[in-house]
Amino acid sequence: MQGTRTQTVAVRPAPAAQQSELIPYRIIRSGRRTLCLEVTAEGAVLVRAPYRATNAEIQRFVTSRQDWILRSRERIRERRQAEDAFAVPPIPPADVRALAARALREIPPRTARYAELLHVTYSRITIRNQTSLWGSCNARGSLSFNCLLMLMDQRIIDYVIVHELCHRLEMNHSARFWAEVERILPDYRERRRWLKEHGGAYIRAMKQGALQSLPSYADMQ
Ligand SMILES: [Zn+2]
Repeated sequence: MQGTRTQTVAVRPAPAAQQSELIPYRIIRSGRRTLCLEVTAEGAVLVRAPYRATNAEIQRFVTSRQDWILRSRERIRERRQAEDAFAVPPIPPADVRALAARALREIPPRTARYAELLHVTYSRITIRNQTSLWGSCNARGSLSFNCLLMLMDQRIIDYVIVHELCHRLEMNHSARFWAEVERILPDYRERRRWLKEHGGAYIRAMKQGALQSLPSYADMQ
């Protein structure tokens, strides 16, 4: 079996990059054929390289792509700042349960109204506290919604409801699917973008709340 070897190096960007910061990178050698560059979510730079690639070759490769690396890292920094600016306080499990109860009261009537507008049917509605999905719709017409939606603006809740109901017409994310969504919510793109940008903060807050509610070591003494 062929293993991989890793090594850490740094390259100083050329003055053209107008940055004097050193770019450290990690080399991961394997049986691959080409050089490949990756900036991780944490901003670390990885170079995947074939065994036969020389360090000088790798160094040249990284230098030639330093603008791209700096741009990628800038994007990551901006995303982090946006995340910090939009912090949701931890949501304890008791609050999650209360949100689920509220969702069970408020989501079904709105779903019924939009289903009528779309001329679609559905079988049942489940409320969950998923950590990756805001809603789902299966082939039998069972809909599920994330209870964390209840912490968001009604416009976002409605977008998720309409999105799932449109899957009763198109079981995919084709142009025809989005045209249906747009027919009911002409500004759906804006709502969708908001959820994409801020949804993660609610999931993180729920996870934090769950962690904080665990008994501490002192409590167990
Ligand atoms: Zn979908």
